[in-house]
Amino acid sequence: MRILLANPRGFCAGVGMAIEVVDQVLALCPDEPIYVYHEIVHNKHVVRRFEERGVTFVEDVGEVPEGAIVIFSAHGVSPAVRDAARARNLTTIDATCPLVTKVHMEAIRYARQGYQILLIGHADHQEVVGTRGEAPDAIQVVESPDDIPSLTIHDPDKLTYLTQTTLSVDDAEVIISALKRAFPNIKAPPTSDICYATTNRQAAVRQHAPECDLVLVVGSQNSSNSKRLTEIAEHQGVPAHLIDDLTELDPAWFSPDQTVFVTAGASAPEYLVADVCKHLIETHGGTIELRTTVNEDVEFQIPKSLKDIMRQTGVDPSQRRIRVTPPEITADAYGATPLTVGAT
Ligand code: SF4
Repeated sequence: MRILLANPRGFCAGVGMAIEVVDQVLALCPDEPIYVYHEIVHNKHVVRRFEERGVTFVEDVGEVPEGAIVIFSAHGVSPAVRDAARARNLTTIDATCPLVTKVHMEAIRYARQGYQILLIGHADHQEVVGTRGEAPDAIQVVESPDDIPSLTIHDPDKLTYLTQTTLSVDDAEVIISALKRAFPNIKAPPTSDICYATTNRQAAVRQHAPECDLVLVVGSQNSSNSKRLTEIAEHQGVPAHLIDDLTELDPAWFSPDQTVFVTAGASAPEYLVADVCKHLIETHGGTIELRTTVNEDVEFQIPKSLKDIMRQTGVDPSQRRIRVTPPEITADAYGATPLTVGAT
C-alpha cells in the first residue's frame, strides 16, 4: 500500500488557538468550573478529552451558573448569546477564530451601509447561526442556487454576499455564479471568506485524489470542512470516507496494492492521523509519501479576554501566539517515516 499523506492536514491556527484557550483557562483557573458554549471545535475526541478534564459543554448559556466562566467556541456566537451571557454576569472568553470574526465584521459593516446580505452557507451550522445573528434583518441564508427564487430582495443594486468559512470552494463558486446571474450588481466581499485552511486542505485533495484508489479523511461527522474534503474526492470519482479514528476503518474498503490518500479536517488531532497510518502499514504493509501542496505559516494571537485573565493571575501574555507547525513523522507513531519502503 502507498499512503500519500497530505500536508497541510488537520489543525488550523483557529482550532489551535481555541484549544489553547481552553487549556490555558483550565491551567489558570484550576478551582473554577469551566463551561464552553457549543463544542469548542467540531471533533468528538477533542471534546471528550476536555470533558475528562472537567469541562462542561452547553448549548445554551442559560445552563451556565450565574457568574461562572464560559468560553465561546471557535465558530463564533451571535450578539444575542453575548447579551445572555452578560445578563447572567458570566466571565466570557471568546475563542472565536479571527477569520470568523472577519465575516461578522463584514456583516455588521454592510448591514450598517444598508446592504442586504446573502450569506452562503449551511443554515444550521453554528458559524452561520452566529454570523446571521449580527444582522438578522439584513441577512438571508443561501444554501444552494435553488434558494435564489425565494429570496426577498428590496434593491438588487444594494446587495452583497458573504460565505461560511468552511464551504467547498467549488460549491461556493457555483452559488456565487448563480447569484451573479440573478443579480449582476451584487457586491463581493473584499477577499474570499472561505479561510486559508479550508482552501488548502481542499486543494490537496483536488490535486492528489485522482492518483489514488481511496481517500480517508480523519474528522468528525459534524465538521463542515472535513465533510467537504470527502465530497471533493467523491466528485472526482474516488471513494472517500470520513472517519473519527481508526476504529471506523472497514476492512472491505481495502485491497492489495492500493494507493490511499490520508488527510484530516481542520479540527482533527494529529495523533488520530498517526494511528490510522500506523494501522494501515501494520495491516497492509507499504510506505508513506508526504504530499506537500503549500506550507502554512498563519499565526494568531490569543484573544484579549484570555490575556486579561492571564494578567489577573500574574501570567505575562505578551509572548503567546498560536502557530500550528507540521508534525514530525516518526516510525514509532506512524508506522513508517515518509518514503520508507516496506512494511514495519
Ligand atoms: S477552519 Fe478556518 S475559519 Fe475555521 S477555525 Fe480554522 S482557520 Fe478559522
